[in-house]
Amino acid sequence: MIHKLLKTKKFIPNEFHDTFFDIDFNKLYQKGYRVILTDLDNTLVTYEEYIPTEKIMNKLDSIRNIGIEVFIMSNNHPPRIDKFLEGTDYLGIGDAKKPLKSGIKRALKLSKNQYSVNEVVVIGDQLMTDVYGANRFGAYNILVNPLKRKTEKWYTRLNRKIEVKMLEKIKRKNIKEYNELNLSKRV
Ligand SMILES: [Mg+2]
Repeated sequence: MIHKLLKTKKFIPNEFHDTFFDIDFNKLYQKGYRVILTDLDNTLVTYEEYIPTEKIMNKLDSIRNIGIEVFIMSNNHPPRIDKFLEGTDYLGIGDAKKPLKSGIKRALKLSKNQYSVNEVVVIGDQLMTDVYGANRFGAYNILVNPLKRKTEKWYTRLNRKIEVKMLEKIKRKNIKEYNELNLSKRV
């Protein structure tokens, strides 16, 4: 399988948390990060939620109030993203093609500001797309556990299977990082 050919380094996130709500955004600001590109499905809401929950909107607003811009970057089809963001003043892109770098570049263009890569944080629930894509781009990245597994699409399930193998490989080859990041808590 493909995991055998891939080096582990590009699949190790900078942080790992159970949920988006466990991320310390104040600390990210203090470290110099100014823009967040976050995944949508299973990171902010489940696949079954088509409009933002009040909880997630309040959270995004609080991040913005710290001084960090927030954009959605999703591999899902654009109408899903448009529908989700309708009536909010947040922007995002669909069809991001993670782990390719092009989506990150497109998402950053949504901002009026010009950010350097050192100011960018990518957040998502998948190792093979969110973490790998961010590491290829050179951006700080945070992995979270998926909110709900059952409704995942077939290609996501396939990525998960590869991810399990990759996590085993990280455990074998990078045990220090594996332990420090608490990757045994990955679900
Ligand atoms: Mg996702």
